Amino acid sequence: MITIMNVKFWLKSAGYCTSHQHFALRGSKRKTIRFPATYGLIHHPVHGWILFDTGYTRRFFEGTQRFPGSIYGRLTPVFIQPEEEVVSALRESGIKPEEIKHIIISHFHADHTGGMLDFPQARFYASPEALEQVNSVSGFQAVRRGILTNQIPRDLMERSVPLTEENFSTKEDPHLGTLIDLFDDGSILLVSLPGHAKGQMGAILRTESQHVFLIADACWLKETWQENRLPHPIVKLFFDSWTDFTDSLTRIRNYHQANPETVIIPCHCQDTVNEIMSLQAEIY
Ligand SMILES: [Zn+2]
Repeated sequence: MITIMNVKFWLKSAGYCTSHQHFALRGSKRKTIRFPATYGLIHHPVHGWILFDTGYTRRFFEGTQRFPGSIYGRLTPVFIQPEEEVVSALRESGIKPEEIKHIIISHFHADHTGGMLDFPQARFYASPEALEQVNSVSGFQAVRRGILTNQIPRDLMERSVPLTEENFSTKEDPHLGTLIDLFDDGSILLVSLPGHAKGQMGAILRTESQHVFLIADACWLKETWQENRLPHPIVKLFFDSWTDFTDSLTRIRNYHQANPETVIIPCHCQDTVNEIMSLQAEIY
């Protein structure tokens, strides 16, 4: 018998950084814009509460006080209030940290890993490539790849399940390729979206009313996937692979053409985030 499950989903944000719009979108205005650090809060009828990424926490400031982390701090000014941190926001909604049993990490950049240390009961899910990288870099090499090691749990590898075909059942999508079926019920499908960062993963969630595709940093602003407007070439300096980045974008655009009803969420796009947040009901 095939079991089909739906999840509930809320998009939340934990702080933001500022940067220049013309970096995110070449040819656009030279103005400073906010990039909210969002995370997904998911509720599964059997597996309970799940996070997709964990936003910023004040650990960013500890990790960027001294060299080499200080380089990161200067590149992206970060703003985060204690009550915005994922663990505080969850408590406010009546969800205890130990109730979070599963955390999907799209990639290990500091704006996605800030809250990892706050959930000691959680199992982590990430691509084998991303896990391999975060486990092998330190010092300047880590910062160069957007990783702040003070935010990464020391027992990460023991608590992680690599998202591989050996560990999970899979589905094939004609546009996205192989998808990992996290709970083998079609409710959360994980999609390889490399380029921005090594082994980056996105997630397609099936909720009662629609499908939601969290594309993480596969692009920053909606204009990139909607109109194929690319970021400024300078960002190539920070990307893992430009070829993989444009290939991931093409796959997302093709998927959208075939599935126009699916809501696509680039996790740092303020316009998209505002739109989603204005529609979603309060938790409970
Ligand atoms: Zn990011």
